[in-house]
Amino acid sequence: MSAPQLLTTIRATRAALERKRAGGLTVAFVPTMGALHEGHLSLVRRARELADTVVVSIFVNPLQFGAGEDLDAYPRTLDADIEALAAEGVDFVFAPTAREMYPAGASSTMVTAGHIGTLLEGATRPGHFDGMLTVVAKLFNIVNPDVALFGQKDAQQVFLVRRMVADLNLPLDLEIVPTVREADGLALSSRNRFLDEGARQAALALSAALQAADAAAGDGLVELLAEATASFGDHDAVTLDYLVVVDPATFLPVDEHFRGRAIALVAARVGATRLIDNASITIG
Ligand code: AMP
Repeated sequence: MSAPQLLTTIRATRAALERKRAGGLTVAFVPTMGALHEGHLSLVRRARELADTVVVSIFVNPLQFGAGEDLDAYPRTLDADIEALAAEGVDFVFAPTAREMYPAGASSTMVTAGHIGTLLEGATRPGHFDGMLTVVAKLFNIVNPDVALFGQKDAQQVFLVRRMVADLNLPLDLEIVPTVREADGLALSSRNRFLDEGARQAALALSAALQAADAAAGDGLVELLAEATASFGDHDAVTLDYLVVVDPATFLPVDEHFRGRAIALVAARVGATRLIDNASITIG
């Protein structure tokens, strides 16, 4: 498989994709922050099935990192990423610098995620979702894809991107891809590479909590939350941030009267590494 063409400027990216579209070809787009793993590659493989041309962006977006977060420490593995994408038949990699994306050093105009953007991940990471939506909107405007692919691993991101696309009438389809896990249940994440063997074991508390939530879902919300929280008792290396169940239609926490499909969401710190995971469950 030939290597993807590496694009670093907005102008070259627009021109390359304009040529594809002029030839009648469709474009699928996978936005990432790099440090690619099998989770990212499952999005890429689905993209390959959906369109003639596949574009992957690799950009660690400063706008979605808060002060004291891991912007500088975030893993950057561009050469290995390009090699992995070559094996998947990706056509273009868009890997701009922060200066190319934010020539003024910041963005004066921001997309705001609203109330849901202040909950859960947004409560721990103020401004994160405004920064994420702003860069996603910019990337959509640069790539102009027919379809963009996101992972269900970041469920709140999926909810907010879906709503932005609807609210702002963005002319593209979204395709959501299931979470890819290790054999023992750990959801793949670029941040997993920070886990040593002990932390790697402790991190299983997240997927174990979701499995416990699923197993107890027939017994109602209170029982389900108690069972899921209990799985954190066995792991002192893990600090639970939140464990909640939300209504997929609103992303608001459900109450004990709720019945039907819901999303159980968990976030925890394992040493210095913050991990998130989620699972679809049916309460009733
Ligand atoms: P990131 O580079 O972490 O911003 O992720 C880029 C895209 O890959 C996002 O849409 C993520 O939801 C998705 N992704 C990350 N981890 C996984 C995973 N384990 N399974 C499926 N998709 C994932």
